[in-house]
Amino acid sequence: MHYSAWSLFWQGLKGNTDWKPAWREPQPKGRYDVIIVGGGGHGLAAAYYLSSVYGITNVAVIEKGWIGSGNAGRNTTIIRSNYLLPGNEPFYELSMKLWEGLEQDFNFNAMVSQRGVLNLCHTDGQRDAYARRGNAMLMAGADAVLLDPVGVRRMCPFLDFDNARFPIKGGLWQKRGGTARHDAVVWGYARGADSRGVDIIQNCEVTGFVMENGVCKGVETSRGTIMAGKVGVSVAGSSGRVMAGAGMRLPIESHVLQAFVSEGLKPIIPGVVTYGAGHFYISQSDKGGLVFGGDIDGYNSYAQRGNLPVVEDVCESGMALVPMIGRARLLRMWGGVMDMSMDGSPIIDKTPVDGLYFNGGWCYGGFKATPASGYCFAHLLATDVPHPTATAYRLDRFRTGAVIDEKGAGAQPNLH
Ligand SMILES: Cc1cc2nc3c(=O)[nH]c(=O)nc-3n(C[C@H](O)[C@H](O)[C@H](O)COP(=O)(O)OP(=O)(O)OC[C@H]3O[C@@H](n4cnc5c(N)ncnc54)[C@H](O)[C@@H]3O)c2cc1C
Repeated sequence: MHYSAWSLFWQGLKGNTDWKPAWREPQPKGRYDVIIVGGGGHGLAAAYYLSSVYGITNVAVIEKGWIGSGNAGRNTTIIRSNYLLPGNEPFYELSMKLWEGLEQDFNFNAMVSQRGVLNLCHTDGQRDAYARRGNAMLMAGADAVLLDPVGVRRMCPFLDFDNARFPIKGGLWQKRGGTARHDAVVWGYARGADSRGVDIIQNCEVTGFVMENGVCKGVETSRGTIMAGKVGVSVAGSSGRVMAGAGMRLPIESHVLQAFVSEGLKPIIPGVVTYGAGHFYISQSDKGGLVFGGDIDGYNSYAQRGNLPVVEDVCESGMALVPMIGRARLLRMWGGVMDMSMDGSPIIDKTPVDGLYFNGGWCYGGFKATPASGYCFAHLLATDVPHPTATAYRLDRFRTGAVIDEKGAGAQPNLH
């Protein structure tokens, strides 16, 4: 069913009685060419591009809960491509370009809203670092503008510019950055993949792998054994647990990241604003809620809820940067489990086990990567060769030392 202004109008005339389910609920088959474990944004995007770009349609996405119940449905929806290192910037810019054409491509309103991302700087040294980052972005075909304090004040007059400890010295502005509706992204990819023949199997947990002579031949699930030519794992915060089933120990730790939303207010925050002196960022949803977040909780966990000291820390940072938010009432907060890699950058690679492929280590930046991650993972699964834009995301880089340490923070997830 193609969605269009005309189909909306026509369904309206018919009392909205004829809409079809956006995807099927098939029974799992005994065998697929490719199985993707994890029905988050990345797994579904990989299935979508496998079917739409590579013509591989005998594919199943196996999800233990409902699609989008993990981080894809819990994140603060920021999209941007303001990275510095050569291993990262072209990849995230590819993602940005895919976001720009996504809704037309998969015929679904993902509410991609390029309202801009502003990173604030608070020292001269930080401003120099942003100038360098902006140049790296321009060289990779992205957009970047360095703003002075007057430019920032024009855009966000409500910030605390003269904070005695962290005065605002300017900012790096990416106009093409912004937000997208997280669950609509999941639904759009699911619908697009399903319409090309991909089976989306919900409420089916992968509990292990079928191994024959060291080769992965399928998965054990709560609904029985399913065989496959290739198995791709894309389970974000559950990466360590799932890959342990194949005898692998990953350079990844799982940590909780919390998000917060206030009561609905009139439009005030123009885009996404990030604090340069603490870990805090804020945007405003289309319904008017202030959406904000900060640091990961500082301990390993698989629980999808966070602890109170981080709530206090995030609110303190928010008050330091945007004092007016002290007047807003906090409505909700929640947590997701982050797959924090040891250099803050992701992995899209074949594993040492033949037939088994891995996509993970997205830390708290994987939503913006969803289109490129799916695209590059599909390329790897279809061709057995890394996509040219994702060649740096190898699993063995922690052994060889070719890490992509965007923040220079070393193997400390809480600093990435
Ligand atoms: C609070 C918060 C804020 C964030 N903000 C941003 C942001 O603003 N911008 C940004 O770019 N990124 C952000 N992120 C990060 C981003 O959400 C993730 O990096 C990204 O969603 C991870 O990829 P995914 O969508 O495939 O993961 P998920 O949606 O977590 O998908 C993994 C799926 O695998 C399933 N699964 C796990 N184990 C099994 C199993 N054994 N069998 C079957 N299925 C299994 C899970 O149920 C889950 O649905 C944020 C994350 C959180 C939690």
